[in-house]
Amino acid sequence: SEVVVWREFDRAKLYMADLESCLHYLLRVELAAHKSLAGAQLKTLRDFVTVVSKLFPGRPPVRKLLEMLQEWLANALPFWLLISGIFLTNHVKWVGCQGSRPELRGYPCSLWKLFHTLTVQASTHPEALVGTGFEDDPQAVLQTLRRYIQTFFGCKECGEHFEAMAKESMDSVKTLDQAVLWLWSRHNAVNSRLAGHLSEDPKFPKVPWPTPDLCPACHEEIKGLDSWNEGQVLVFLKQYYSSSNLVDTYSA
Ligand code: FAD
Repeated sequence: SEVVVWREFDRAKLYMADLESCLHYLLRVELAAHKSLAGAQLKTLRDFVTVVSKLFPGRPPVRKLLEMLQEWLANALPFWLLISGIFLTNHVKWVGCQGSRPELRGYPCSLWKLFHTLTVQASTHPEALVGTGFEDDPQAVLQTLRRYIQTFFGCKECGEHFEAMAKESMDSVKTLDQAVLWLWSRHNAVNSRLAGHLSEDPKFPKVPWPTPDLCPACHEEIKGLDSWNEGQVLVFLKQYYSSSNLVDTYSA
């Protein structure tokens, strides 16, 4: 069996290795399980790839690859042709998404990070979506991620939970900033539901995030109760999930 080497990392940073490993896993494992795609599934994948190719703050070769993937999909070339030739990283390499055991964290952790990065990029660089048909709809990115989860995410139970949250409140999102905060608050709802669950990594307990050490200004006390300062949370998310907080240590 593989020897697991712990990679030291900074919890205040976002690692490109996690986001690239996410794309690698998503394309080469999750999507590769589908022998062929057509109709609504193909449309879901196309929209997802469009959003990622426009918003992912990747290194130049990865951006180029995503652009090519987007063009190929737009021309409906057989899906297998693409996947077989795609080379992101040799294998997945988790850093900020390492688990203390191999079955913990990894891909689902990186998918959350990718999703937060995409909603933050859409709100800070809305011009990136001009020409895609997604530019005038503040829910467009969230709805695309929602359809990806519903259609392709390997954890079906997670998909059902996410769909229930989306049905309940995604419609209330009216601006790109609200989209960032919607995903943040829903992720915290998932964290609190899963706290103490078997899937929780003891080294990474599920707690309301960002914790006070990462963002003291995000927390306030109102009448003795801990509550969020959402304005500060938004500022923090826009910094944490920005390209300037992404580090290339451990990326290929
Ligand atoms: P994760 O929750 O994966 O978070 C990854 C990182 O994101 C954290 O380390 C932190 O840096 C950051 N972060 C944490 N909270 C927030 C926040 N509120 N906003 C922004 N960033 C944050 N598992 C289940 O067992 N049942 C489910 O129903 C389920 N639903 C899921 C739905 C989706 C859409 C996804 C992507 C995953 C789901 N999972 C579910 C998996 C679960 O949420 C975790 O991803 C997994 O348990 C790994 O947890 P983790 O400790 O790596 O932290």
